[in-house]
Amino acid sequence: MMFKTNNPTKIFLIFLVMSFFGRDAYSQSLEAQFIGNEAFRITDGKTFLMTDFPYKSGAYNYMKYEFDFSSTTGTVLSLITHRHDDHFAPVLFANQAWYILGPAEVTVGLPQSRLLPFSEKVTFEPLTIWPKKSTHGNTEHYSYLVDWSGRKLFFTGDTEDLVVLKDLPELDALFITPWFYRKAKLNDALPESKKVIIYHHMEKDIVPECPGCIIPVQNDYIEID
Ligand SMILES: [Zn+2]
Repeated sequence: MMFKTNNPTKIFLIFLVMSFFGRDAYSQSLEAQFIGNEAFRITDGKTFLMTDFPYKSGAYNYMKYEFDFSSTTGTVLSLITHRHDDHFAPVLFANQAWYILGPAEVTVGLPQSRLLPFSEKVTFEPLTIWPKKSTHGNTEHYSYLVDWSGRKLFFTGDTEDLVVLKDLPELDALFITPWFYRKAKLNDALPESKKVIIYHHMEKDIVPECPGCIIPVQNDYIEID
């Protein structure tokens, strides 16, 4: 469609309508900030999803971090895969007014009012979350599929169960560890995903045969649109 007008009011109105729709589309994209290990702070500007966070900085010699907790206010959900210290620190969680979804092993002893009831399908603000039971050592472990206003994200956690990658919808972002990525690739089990985001890597890790993968440095921002 072409506009042929010199009328400034008309031009202004067209501009106004276009910028309105433009901004609307833009505000729907998600911004993910990498904190360390499997921790991301993901937001649409209103709701915050914290993956495997807060964890114990430097636990098991994994990443140390500095995080300004006061910058994350509003509706916040911690989504936790398992109880290991490099994924969750109950003491740090207790100091926040955040909600939590995680295995019973993780949420036991936390204030009831902040627990989302664990079920096959959990809704929270614009999020729908499907926990997928998976294995990791002797822990109770879940991987998660998240639908965020139509955007589909998948978080593997620490598991190496290829079965969790089966029957996934086409993803907008796959968050996966380097070792599970390798295994899935070897077994031709990687799901379709617009973005593949490596997490729980070591600083300066090289992930072979991962063309187009995003391997974030701490505090990097990734846009998921
Ligand atoms: Zn871990």
